[in-house]
Amino acid sequence: MSVKKGRVFSGARPTGRQHIGNYFGAISNYVKLQEEYDCIYCIVDLHALTTLETTRDLKQNTLEMTWDWLAAGIDPQKSIVFVQSMVRQVTELHTILSMVTPLGKLTDLPTFKEKVRENPKNVNYGLVGYPVLMSADILLYRADMVPVGVDQAPHIEFARETVRSFNFHYSTDVLIEPKEKFTDFPKIMGIDGVNKMSKSLNNDIEIAATATETAAKVMQMVTDPARQRRSDPGNPDVCNVFSLHKIFTPPEKVAEINVECRRAGIGCVDCKKILAANMNAYFAPLRERRLEFEKDPEGTWDILQQGAKRASVIAEETMVSVREAVGLPAIRKD
Ligand code: ADP
Repeated sequence: MSVKKGRVFSGARPTGRQHIGNYFGAISNYVKLQEEYDCIYCIVDLHALTTLETTRDLKQNTLEMTWDWLAAGIDPQKSIVFVQSMVRQVTELHTILSMVTPLGKLTDLPTFKEKVRENPKNVNYGLVGYPVLMSADILLYRADMVPVGVDQAPHIEFARETVRSFNFHYSTDVLIEPKEKFTDFPKIMGIDGVNKMSKSLNNDIEIAATATETAAKVMQMVTDPARQRRSDPGNPDVCNVFSLHKIFTPPEKVAEINVECRRAGIGCVDCKKILAANMNAYFAPLRERRLEFEKDPEGTWDILQQGAKRASVIAEETMVSVREAVGLPAIRKD
């Protein structure tokens, strides 16, 4: 990797096929960042274990997500793309960092409280340590920048505090404080029009869906609830179909729809047909590239293995310094 503006790390859990929320909220940003930064993109399968009931689909979901990433333009020649569990040093750093982490700080985090509310029957030890593992990821690869949504900001602050605790406790400057880089992408709403698009709410449209599947999902989208009949004027300001037009449809056409909807000149069905066609046109090249990757799962695992190999070099460098700072014996290579 060439020396660029700095090093970016981002991890996402292997949720399988990605939806358009993931695409505009994360993936398209990842693709842009790799031009200016040294980027490390990680599929955090260990983090996924904190909430998964079964790991049956874990590997397939990892592949599906990787295919979307690669097809979207994340380039393994430019960026390091790998699977978290393939670089074992992260679990070692996680253990070491957990010793400088007060338990109360973890249980006070809003994200932890939310997880407990969501799933009170599975509050496991790993879930409490989720932000410690996340810090271990960022710090292991010495990232200076982490692209996140606003909801993740407390975790980055947590990582910075962990750096300060560790460096103070062991009188060292081995670990680097990361900064957050807020993603400025819109929050994409689901086809229900009221919740954020999310796989778990089953209100998503996958970027790799077929043209027919995409059209069917768009047809299910909730529009302005006050518009009952074709002859009623609509309000684009409260319509999620219109919000998506702003992303997928040329501005002149968006302006026309805005006017026509308000005077009942265009109905919701026609409006959705235009959206589905534009969405399909937008994702067609990505879908074509994805088909090529899908043909070769072994080749995809090779890409991830190669990424892990490159990531391991950075990880081991960090761990040599960390072990030394902590006072643990060095591990001989021979
Ligand atoms: P994770 O919890 O591992 O981040 P998610 O699938 O929830 O996994 O999200 C992956 C990325 O996609 C995150 O950066 C998240 O902010 C973004 N994302 C997910 N859903 C949406 C959405 N509806 N709109 C915008 N961004 C989203």
